[in-house]
Amino acid sequence: MAALRTLDLVKEYGSGEAMVRAVDHINCEIADGEFVAIVGPSGSGKSTLFNLIGGLDRPTSGHVYIGSVDISQLATKEVAYLRCHRIGYIFQTFNLLPVRTALENVALPLLIAGARAAESDERAAELLDKVGLGSRLHHRPSELSGGQQQRVAIARSLANRPNIVLADEPTGNLDTKTGQEIIDLLCELNRSEGVTVVSATHDPKMIEAAGRRLNIEDGRLLD
Ligand code: ADP
Ligand code: MG
Repeated sequence: MAALRTLDLVKEYGSGEAMVRAVDHINCEIADGEFVAIVGPSGSGKSTLFNLIGGLDRPTSGHVYIGSVDISQLATKEVAYLRCHRIGYIFQTFNLLPVRTALENVALPLLIAGARAAESDERAAELLDKVGLGSRLHHRPSELSGGQQQRVAIARSLANRPNIVLADEPTGNLDTKTGQEIIDLLCELNRSEGVTVVSATHDPKMIEAAGRRLNIEDGRLLD
């Protein structure tokens, strides 16, 4: 079964003259364990598509299936549950909580999912160790480099063992060398743990690393 699938997915912003169709009848299917790059210019609809797939926003019409579940049919609370357990999200701007340490940032989704504090801390430390930050557990984001912050975000995305990680231009704010380290880490996750990775990107290195490329322009997938 596909890890995720969209069916005639449409998202419109605004109305009348000012209406923008940011996602325009997108049909795509991503298999379990794939690493797919979604490539398109700025404004082509990548983030909008990700927000719909990740359950952060609702489509105007059409469907998003995570496994066999049509999330467009779920109640808000059910979407939140599914997002918490099945989907990891990584952003271009890291989106860490600034007043929390690396450990606290990674433990938060575990606490939200109902894990106990000690257990959450233990898993968060394990994950941070795995992304190479075992010696930075108690640093705040402002005390970490961009690449390190993105590693924390990757560790956080994996907290509840999602089977899909959505990465929205994860190397967009990083230099080439640091970006490559993040790409290697995502590849490693994909290969060794079978996590399905979908990454919006302009980065030639990321495109090269992905197993498949989907091109998006004006909200539509090109052949
Ligand atoms: P990308 O991530 O590829 O740069 P986006 O998905 O952010 O593209 O944007 C796609 C289009 O939708 C753009 O034309 C953008 O201006 C528009 N858009 C995105 N978010 C909103 C919003 N909240 N309200 C109105 N228009 C939006
Ligand atoms: Mg974007």
